Order: sequence, then structure tokens, then C-alpha cells
Amino acid sequence: MSAKYIFVTGGVVSSLGKGLAAASIGCLLESRGLKVNLMKFDPYLNVDPGTMSPFQHGEVFVTDDGAETDLDLGHYERFTHAKLSRDNNWTTGRIYEQIITKERRGDYLGKTVQVIPHVTNEIKAAMKKVAQDVDVCIVEIGGTVGDIESLPFMEAIRQMRQELGREHTLFMHVTLVPFIAAAQELKTKPTQHSVKELLSIGIQPDILLCRTDRFLAKDIKSKIALFCNVAEEAVITAKDVASIYEVPVVFSREGVDTLVLKYLHLEAQDRDLKDWEEIVHRVYNPKAEVNIGIVGKYVEYEDSYKSLKEALVHGALAHNLKLNLNWIEAEGLETGGATNEEQLEGYDGILVPGGFGKRGIEGMLIAIRYAREKKVPYFGICLGMQTACVEFARNVCGLTEANSSEFDPATPHRVIYKLRELRGVEELGGTMRLGAWTCKIEPNTLAHRIYGQLEISERHRHRYEFNREYESTLVAGGLRISGSTPDGTYVEMVELPDHPHFIGCQFHPEFKSKPLEPHPLFKSFVGAAYEHGLKRRAEKAASEVEMFHRPEKVGKR
Ligand code: GLN
Repeated sequence: MSAKYIFVTGGVVSSLGKGLAAASIGCLLESRGLKVNLMKFDPYLNVDPGTMSPFQHGEVFVTDDGAETDLDLGHYERFTHAKLSRDNNWTTGRIYEQIITKERRGDYLGKTVQVIPHVTNEIKAAMKKVAQDVDVCIVEIGGTVGDIESLPFMEAIRQMRQELGREHTLFMHVTLVPFIAAAQELKTKPTQHSVKELLSIGIQPDILLCRTDRFLAKDIKSKIALFCNVAEEAVITAKDVASIYEVPVVFSREGVDTLVLKYLHLEAQDRDLKDWEEIVHRVYNPKAEVNIGIVGKYVEYEDSYKSLKEALVHGALAHNLKLNLNWIEAEGLETGGATNEEQLEGYDGILVPGGFGKRGIEGMLIAIRYAREKKVPYFGICLGMQTACVEFARNVCGLTEANSSEFDPATPHRVIYKLRELRGVEELGGTMRLGAWTCKIEPNTLAHRIYGQLEISERHRHRYEFNREYESTLVAGGLRISGSTPDGTYVEMVELPDHPHFIGCQFHPEFKSKPLEPHPLFKSFVGAAYEHGLKRRAEKAASEVEMFHRPEKVGKR
């Protein structure tokens, strides 16, 4: 059986949550027993987002096969069981790179190479590749209708409808229906214009997902249906929700999956969304709260740490907790003194996430020292593991000038240095240690207790590594290396046995955490943080009682 396609486009403005909408539709179709795959086309010219600034692009999501991809792929993996690879994310740059390679090889046999048909054929071939062996392939087109750079992708999906017919293709358009305060009215005109724009390139949407802050009344839906040429049942309220995990549930209430099955002539079982409803129930009924402080350098732009934030939410949900996330700008800690203590006090757990470059490093070291000395649960991810090793070398082993050669190439103690396999590699694109690698865990370590197994596979994205020449010094000081590559080349995990919960990993576990399958490292860290918070508050309360009684005692003396 050949796959059916759902094409998701966006209109009016960006950031309407097309990726989440696509992921949620995938989730709903899986709840009906269908097999899905998802992919995204990004119309920009970079070959991949790997070399783009986190401020420009947000997080770079890494797949098992080491592709550096758009963060929407993270949503796809969190909401479905689809196994994603570099085939699931294409940019204009990568499509052209492929075409130009073919042209130089002479593959086009002297023909003029053109956007239509060569670029559009390449786009269609990429879709057909990921649609093998699934019932439904959901294809998200990045950008907003009307953008010049997305035109070849729009043309490709138009041709797919022409080729495969209505029963095999469905156009879903995500649009905005704003409430205008001055008029006290929901406005449908932006949606009408957006659909008009789509029609002008030959695409008639079948379903409109209308982002709005309130439910669309029947009269609004019929107005949109009339002017946009869609059935009234196909005008869907995509209302803002407090938790992204509610989106599949909200869509199911609007009957989106039923509509998709009807339009695509698909047979499927009844919907089973119990697991997701349970997650939503937990989101709104936490038993207590936990306060986590993230000390990083792109903190004013939360999209840079999308998967990290979600993985912490999953860890909290696993304990029925509400997560209070506090983003601490690492540079701000560098001013020193008592203010640091004040800034760091009050967190139940401290986390230093991944990052690149020198800015903020000294602030991270201050936060790590605080966590280590005050026995606050610490979790260091990638850069957070490397900085934990530098901090330990400096403040416990007395190597006061220890550093990573990334931040100080002239340091006398390169505790972290460039990956040996990357020496001499100057090109930036796709040259890091990327993707899934096996890690062997040492028995009877915290890592072992957390994972409950001795061999794991996690995803990487780094250019520097722990320098084994310093292993004996740091181990003598009390650091434990609890995970390494099976051949012993790379250090993958470190921990401090004399601390309640201090762990660092060279990989990015956040990429593999899902709401229904919280990652063990996040579950364990959030659990330890919660316990620490309880203890800390109990001690504080006890010392306040003591303070209250002390003047009396003093008076009697
Ligand atoms: N900058 C460090 C490295 O390249 C850490 C990378 C990261 O945190 N992803 O090794």
C-alpha cells in the first residue's frame, strides 16, 4: 500500500506552532493504530542549522544518525514513534547541494538544470523516500505562505496532489484568527488572505487549523468556511493551551483525526489517547513543585534549549511535580561575591547545559562549585560535564589554571582538549562528533543505578573531550569516571561519589526524552532535586525555630 501524505503549511505569521500541529496529528494517527513518518523542509539556504547561531535558529536537534536538524524534529520524536534521520529534514541549501553535485558529475546529460522540474523532482523524491513503509507521511513546509524562498516546496506539494490524487494527499493550513481588543471581535480576514495566497499558487487547503485564544463560534467557522472554500467541519479551533502535551487531546476533541481519516479514505481503529490524557492530567494536578536553575549562555532565548526544557518537564511529570525553571545568565554570576550565593540559593537542583565559546564559562564554574560544595544536585550536559571537570581540577586538585583548550588554548592544564579525531579539521559544518554512540557504564556507580544497565546509546554533538592524561589526578581527588566508549577512548560520564547527586555526561540525553518515556537521567536529577528541596526547607524551618528561641536563652544567661 502506498503512503498517504498530509502537507502542513503556515500562513499569516510565523511561530503559529506548525511543527507542534504536525507532531500532534502524527500522535493522533498513531493512537488510531496507523504508522506515521514526519519530515520538514526548511526553505533557507544553509545546508543545515548546525552552523547557525542559537539566537537565529534555536536548538539544533540531533538524530541518531548524526544529522543536525530543525527543532521541530524534536517535537516529532517526542509525540510519535517515528524514527528520524537526515532524510527527515531538508533545507533548500541541501537540495541544491545535491543537484549541483549531480550537475558537476554530468548526470543531467547536457540538459538545462531548472527549478521546475529538477528542484521540484528532488523535493518530491525526498518525500517519497521517507514515506516508504508507513501509512501516512506528514510533511511540514517551513516558513509562511507568500515567502519567495518556499515557492519550490509549494510547487512540489501541488504536483504531489496532481500526481497522487485527492484520496492520497491532504493540505492542512495553519493560520491565525486574532481577537482584536479594540473591536472586541475575532478577525477572519488574515486567514482569508492567507488562503487566497495559497490559491494563487494552485493549492486549495482541505483543513484549516486556526490558532486563536478562544473557541471559534459556529458563525465564525461558517464565515471562514465560506470565504476559504473549505467544509465547515474542516475549520478547526486550535486554541492556545498551557501545555504543549495538551495539543493532541484538544485536536481530538475537535475531531481532526476523524476528518483526516475521512478525507484520506483511511480505515483505522478507534482512538486510544489514554496515555496522553494521563500526561495532561498530571500537568494540571501536580503534588508539589521543584525549582531548577539552568546556568547557561543563551538563556534569554529559551528556544535554544527546547529539548532540554521538555526533558526536565518529563522528569518532573514522572514524579508528579510542577517544574519551575529558572534561567540564570552565566555571565551575570561572574561579578562575584555574596551576590552569587544569593542568586544560586533557592534552587533544588542546578544544571549547566551544552554550549559553545568562552562567554559565561567562569560563571558556570562558580555555579558548579556552589553545587558541589553545598551538595545541591548537579547535572552537567556536554559543556556542563566539561566545565564540571575543569572546576574539579581547579578547586579540588589544585590545578588553578586548568581549562578547556576551547576557552584558553594556552592553558598549562588542558583538562578538556580538542577531540583527537578532529585535530587539523578547520571546517565547521557537520564536523563535530555527532549522533548516537555506545557508552559502557561502570558497575556500582550512580550512572549504573540511574540507567539500570551497563550499556547505553546516546546522541552527541561536541568538538572537545576529556583529556585522559588528567584522569589519575582527578580520580585521586575523588572524581569517578562512570561511562566511557567501549574502546575506552572517550570519557562519556563523570560523577562524584561523595555527593548526593552530581553527574555529568558528554552526550545530550535530552534528545531522547519523551513525555511517555522520561529519560532516566532527567527523572533521577529532578527526583534528587525535589528531595534536596524538601530537606533544605526542613532545615531552614528548623533553624528559624532555633533563631526564634535563641534570644530568650541569651537573656537567661
Ligand atoms: N563546546 C563544547 C564542545 O564542543 C561543548 C559542546 C556542547 O555542549 N554541545 O565540545
